[in-house]
Amino acid sequence: MKTLRLDLSESCIWCGSPELKATGATIARYQECSYCFVLCRNCKIKLAYPFQGERVDYEQIQKRKWSSAFHRADNEWIASILSNGPEPLWTEAAHAFLEHKTLDARYAYALKRVREAYLEGRSLRILEVGCNEGYATAVMARYGHRCTGIDIQKGATAAARRRYGPMYECCGIEDFERRTTGRFDLICAFEVIEHLADPRGFMSRCRKLLEPKGTVILTTPDGDRMAPDCWLQDLPPIHLTVFSRPTFQWLRNEGWLIDFPEDRGTTRPLRAIERRFRTMRNLHERIGEVPDVDPASKDFIYGAQTYVGFEKAMNSPTLTVRVLKSLARLAGIGLPSQAIVVRLQLAE
Ligand SMILES: [Zn+2]
Repeated sequence: MKTLRLDLSESCIWCGSPELKATGATIARYQECSYCFVLCRNCKIKLAYPFQGERVDYEQIQKRKWSSAFHRADNEWIASILSNGPEPLWTEAAHAFLEHKTLDARYAYALKRVREAYLEGRSLRILEVGCNEGYATAVMARYGHRCTGIDIQKGATAAARRRYGPMYECCGIEDFERRTTGRFDLICAFEVIEHLADPRGFMSRCRKLLEPKGTVILTTPDGDRMAPDCWLQDLPPIHLTVFSRPTFQWLRNEGWLIDFPEDRGTTRPLRAIERRFRTMRNLHERIGEVPDVDPASKDFIYGAQTYVGFEKAMNSPTLTVRVLKSLARLAGIGLPSQAIVVRLQLAE
């Protein structure tokens, strides 16, 4: 194990302040590296040090991580709903699913804006960064917008193309920004910025890709709801930062207008899980043709393949639900929990 020497003469990667404070010992170890936990007194960002850690194999992580199963299940549902036909009914059903039936509220605000534009007859150019298997981009595209989804995961973008069409590319925002001349009315990045080693670079690329009156909508785990010395959710090197509202407010210095449109409190994870399973069943009963991904249901169609990491538990769907509930009670183990929704625009 390499010993990490934390060089506090470095400055904050977000605001540039030298006012960094190491808040605790090692918070994570990955391969040959250990990560420390640093707080910037100026912008309140929490940082994992060192920043340039080993390259993270997201394809592997997604295969193993139990919470990824929810995203895979969401993808199956959305694909199934949209495959019913191009009629607005199915767009609305897929939208309703993403707004109300998933574990977290990450998509709700962006989808609301996208739907409003559709109802007003405006066609937007939309970029989703970190689109994974593409289902959110697919729903936004159904509202008649010109959408592009990008992700660094080759397998995920290939699957998205097969399923939803050619609007996906495997690349990071750096490459994309270099070779595109397009400008976007809306850039979305749901739970992405906390994974990036250069979140400032990400913001400046968003700036270049935005139409003058364009909007960026980000979501990220809510650092204001974590204790100061606490790193909830994925440990480094998966999540490298924890953002709070003051961290985003700092971007005002760089000409961004910022607000938090969905600041309406949080849902308790346990209740959210129970509600999700219940509402999935309701939706299934109403529409009939969408797959049932409630593990407690007798019609449960997935299996160990979807809920990888729970292979043993999956032999008993009831046990799986029990395991999920136990995890939920132990708050803080990677639960897909509350997000801050941030809306940014450039001041004129
Ligand atoms: Zn800072």
